[in-house]
Amino acid sequence: MLCEVEMHRYADVIIDISHDRLDRPFTYRIPDHLRDRILLGSQVLVPFGKGKEPRKGYVTGFRDRADLEEERIRDILDLVSLREGYTEESDRDFNLRLAIWMKNAYGSTMITALKTVMTSRKSGAPKKKRTIRLIADPEAAEEKLAWYRQKHQLARARLLEALLETPEIPYEMVTAKLHVTGPVIRALKSAGLVEIEETGFLRNPVSIQDAGRGPAALSPGQQEIADHVVSAFEAGDPGVTLIHGITGSGKTEVYINIISRICSQGRQAIMLIPEIALTYQTLIRFYRHFGDRVSVINSSLSESEKADQWERARRGEIDVIIGPRSALFTPFEKLGVIVIDEEHENSYKNESMPKYHARETAMQIARMRGAALVLGSATPSLDAYYRALTGEFKLFTLKERLTGGTLPAVEIADMRAELRRGNRSILSASLRRKLEERLQKGEQTMLFLNRRGFAGSLSCRACGYVVKCPHCDVAMSVHMGRGKGRMVCHYCGHEEAAPGLCPSCGSRYISAMKAGTEQVETYLRQAFPGARILRMDADTTSAKGSYEKILSSFANEEADILLGTQMIVKGHDFPGVTLVGILMADLSLYSNDYRAAERTFQLLTQAAGRAGRGSLAGDVVIQTYQPDHYAIVHASRQDYEGFYEEEILYRKLLLYPPVSHMLAVQILSSSEDAALSAAGGIRSLLEEIPSVLIGPAPAGIGRIRDIYRFGLYIKDPKYDTLIDYKDQIETYIHTMQGNGNFRNVQIQFDFDPVNPY
Ligand code: ADP
Ligand code: ZN
Ligand code: ZN
Repeated sequence: MLCEVEMHRYADVIIDISHDRLDRPFTYRIPDHLRDRILLGSQVLVPFGKGKEPRKGYVTGFRDRADLEEERIRDILDLVSLREGYTEESDRDFNLRLAIWMKNAYGSTMITALKTVMTSRKSGAPKKKRTIRLIADPEAAEEKLAWYRQKHQLARARLLEALLETPEIPYEMVTAKLHVTGPVIRALKSAGLVEIEETGFLRNPVSIQDAGRGPAALSPGQQEIADHVVSAFEAGDPGVTLIHGITGSGKTEVYINIISRICSQGRQAIMLIPEIALTYQTLIRFYRHFGDRVSVINSSLSESEKADQWERARRGEIDVIIGPRSALFTPFEKLGVIVIDEEHENSYKNESMPKYHARETAMQIARMRGAALVLGSATPSLDAYYRALTGEFKLFTLKERLTGGTLPAVEIADMRAELRRGNRSILSASLRRKLEERLQKGEQTMLFLNRRGFAGSLSCRACGYVVKCPHCDVAMSVHMGRGKGRMVCHYCGHEEAAPGLCPSCGSRYISAMKAGTEQVETYLRQAFPGARILRMDADTTSAKGSYEKILSSFANEEADILLGTQMIVKGHDFPGVTLVGILMADLSLYSNDYRAAERTFQLLTQAAGRAGRGSLAGDVVIQTYQPDHYAIVHASRQDYEGFYEEEILYRKLLLYPPVSHMLAVQILSSSEDAALSAAGGIRSLLEEIPSVLIGPAPAGIGRIRDIYRFGLYIKDPKYDTLIDYKDQIETYIHTMQGNGNFRNVQIQFDFDPVNPY
């Protein structure tokens, strides 16, 4: 993203910045002899204030005109050259360069960008870790395990079983990932089975069974991928590698192999896994390989615990860090590889300023550090797959499931046909029958209510018709706040009255979709009076620890049915589950978002993958009003390529990412008039541009907490062109505000937005 500056006469320079004193940029003239050598992020020497010594500074931007009189502007004195790739530069230099890139690529203030990339420092040694250690001898433990199982004390059994496999486990992992609570751990302690130790490190994280055996030999397919990544890294041209492989195809084994080979060369590794997808099984595998050289960051850590981890990284006490998005900023000076598992996950996009994407940011960090970047997913994002097919990323596919077990049998239930047959209930006849069978046999069921992206779209219960915008091919939303009965398109602002009858079939059953988990639960309790039901959604998990409690209870087989939103779809392996029902599979298709089909495909594929994880075969029922929709058909067949082929055509036709790029300009203000006039001003500023310009239109939710929101979209095949528009808009708003206009107006930028605004 570094761009040439031939045309620019002036540079914005941030002067030798300190951690707590973040200064604004100052304008300097670029002398002719440096003109084509100074890039964004370059370190330069400049005169500053009255001091005689030149000061070091960083170029954060360029401009053709300066606000000052010519004679008050001073020249840049010289350029300090910095090597790309692995350098010994300080945290601060690295963070600054990264923040400059981030500010430029995503649009935010320098300070916000710096705060994002800077990890807090801590004085003193990091706190000690608590570890649970098995002290009973294995035979006695085995006996006790059998007894717990017989007594149906499943949490105790689960912990003991885990310790028999891995005799020392970090305390946090047991509580957070094994779904075992403090009282259970204390019970095992009182029984003389375990001890809780405060240690600085793990002494024996290796499994008893594994002792003496090395890691599994990679299959030829796995070996080829790992060899490619490592040799490209060694050759100094690591690039980006995408692994497309279904769950259980051996991706994690490949990551571990790559990480250990690169770390054995004295380098370090960042492993990103969305928190919700990071299971105990995965984590324990990393502990077994890397022992106390690996550390985990998650949202339940306090700021000071996080600072502990950063400090460990800075001191070189760890080689591998596992965590969500923010783990990218771990201060590893000798970073050698970044892995992003489940790369399609939306949680990789930051939704506050700067709205960075972990994939792009990882690419930048990898470039700066000379590190390899490996992406993996069972359902790659269209973005990554497109870039792999165009040759920017290297693509590998793993097709076979190594875990054995059969893929579940998937059935699509057509809910229009159910309604025609007089079934107006939430469950199709087939799902109802299968659920009854499970209840009789004592097997577990997961019911997934797909509410993703639901934003009040209008649909017909008789035929499945969804009211879409005539200009944009996204669902219209029943507008909140602006008078009932009106619908608006969030992409172009098109507005019309909501129809009273279905425009497609004339039915009266057309309404904004509402069915929530609570209603489904009520229905289930009536329909299956004896069943034990757990509900998991935003309402039931708001209290601290409640999320874990529900999962733990379901894992202990204290319930027959787990009903929930997308929260239940990811990561958790429940061997007792043999039936997965997906209610309203198409609901996410109706969202006002061009990624609706992609999201739906990913969710359904993942949800279907939840069935039959144990030794028993699984069934999946997908309930939908659109049984012929390509996202649903391909998901039911677990056919990624088929889905991609159809979806990319649509993106090409309408110039959506990844085929084109898109910049959302978000305008917020407590005054509707101010927001509108700023939006109008930006619109006229851009009137003549050759790119596609859409809006301004009210945002998806036009007002939140009395802040009015408008959006304007620009589409262009070149990302750099969009950056240029962003800069123009920033300058324009800045100037206008300098003259007392657009007060209380805030502008945010979102490049290639992932969530609808
Ligand atoms: P993914 O990350 O794609 O879900 P994993 O790496 O977790 O796949 O592999 C799935 C299972 O197969 C794991 O239990 C793992 O231990 C096992 N496995 C992976 N690679 C091999 C191999 N080369 N030989 C034997 N078992 C393997
Ligand atoms: Zn529209
Ligand atoms: Zn209809």
